[in-house]
Amino acid sequence: MSSGPGAAVLLSPVTGPPRPVDPREPMVRLEDQALTRGDGIFETLHVLDGTAYKFDAHHARLAASARTADLPAPPQDVCRAALALGLDAAGPGSHDPSRDLGAEHSVKLSVSRGVPGGEPWAWLTVSPVPPQTFEARQDGVSVLLLERGHDPAEDSGMPWLLPGVKTLSYAVNMAAVRHARANGAQDVVFTTSTDRRILEGATSSVVCARTSPGQPPTLVTPEPSRGILPGTSQARIFDAARRHGWGVDYGPLHPRDLLEADAVWLTSSVRLAVPVTRVDGHPVCSDPALTRTLTDFLLGRAGS
Ligand code: PLP
Repeated sequence: MSSGPGAAVLLSPVTGPPRPVDPREPMVRLEDQALTRGDGIFETLHVLDGTAYKFDAHHARLAASARTADLPAPPQDVCRAALALGLDAAGPGSHDPSRDLGAEHSVKLSVSRGVPGGEPWAWLTVSPVPPQTFEARQDGVSVLLLERGHDPAEDSGMPWLLPGVKTLSYAVNMAAVRHARANGAQDVVFTTSTDRRILEGATSSVVCARTSPGQPPTLVTPEPSRGILPGTSQARIFDAARRHGWGVDYGPLHPRDLLEADAVWLTSSVRLAVPVTRVDGHPVCSDPALTRTLTDFLLGRAGS
C-alpha cells in the first residue's frame, strides 16, 4: 500500500511562484482535463539525501513532452523552487533495508491542461519510497511479454499520437500490469505484434547485459527514439557504462535475447535497476554484482 504524499506544492499558473499546499486537501476541479481525459504530462524523480540527481534530464524530457503536447512546462528555476519547498515539508524519507543508499523520496511533477477554457496548472508531490520498491530491487520481478498491438516506431511522424511523451494517460499501462498479475507475473514487457521486438516495460525501460570472461560487459536496450519513452535511467546508466569502457548497444531485441542474456533489468527512476527473474515463466540469468554496479552508475557513485 502507498503511504501517500508527505508534501505537495501547487504551481498555478505553471510559471509559479510555487505554493506549499496540504496534500490531504482536495485540489482538483471535477471538470479538470487531467481528471476527465488524462490530458497532461508528468515526470517522476528519485531524490536521494535531498538531491534530485537527474533533475536536468527530467526537466529536459518534461519540456519535450510539453512541446509535443502543446502545454507549458514550468521553468527550471520554478521546478527547483517547488522541489525545495516540497522536500522541506516532506518527512525524512525511507531507507532501503537491503542496501542503504540514503534517505529516499519519490517526487512526481504533473502538468494538467486545466478546466475547459481555463489555464494549465501544475503540482508536485513528495512521497517516501514504498517498501514494495525495495523488495523489487532485492528480489527482482517476473515479467509477461505482452503485445502492444502496433509498432510505436510508426507514430514518430504523427505528433497527435504524442510519441515519446510522458502523458498522464497510463490506464493502458496499468491494465497491462493487472493482466500480468492475474497471470502469475509481476510486471510487463511490451513487444510489437508484427516482429515481437522488445519495446519497454509498463513504467520502465528494458536493459540487458552480455558478458564474456575477461571482457567488460555490453549493455543493450531497444532504440529509445523509436516511439518508446526515452528513459532517463537507461541513458544515465549507458553514459556511465561508456565512461567505464563497457560496450553499449541499441536493439533490436527479441524475446530470445532476454532469455539468452546474462542479466536483464527494468530500469526506472525510483525503482532503479530491478532484475528480471523470469520471462513468460522461463528463468532468466541474474547477476547481483552487475545490479549493484548499474545502481552505482545511476546514482553517480561508480567513479569514472
Ligand atoms: N518507459 C515508461 C513507459 C515509463 O513510464 C518509464 C518511467 O516511468 C520509463 C520508461 C523509465 O523512465 P525513467 O528512467 O526516466 O524513469
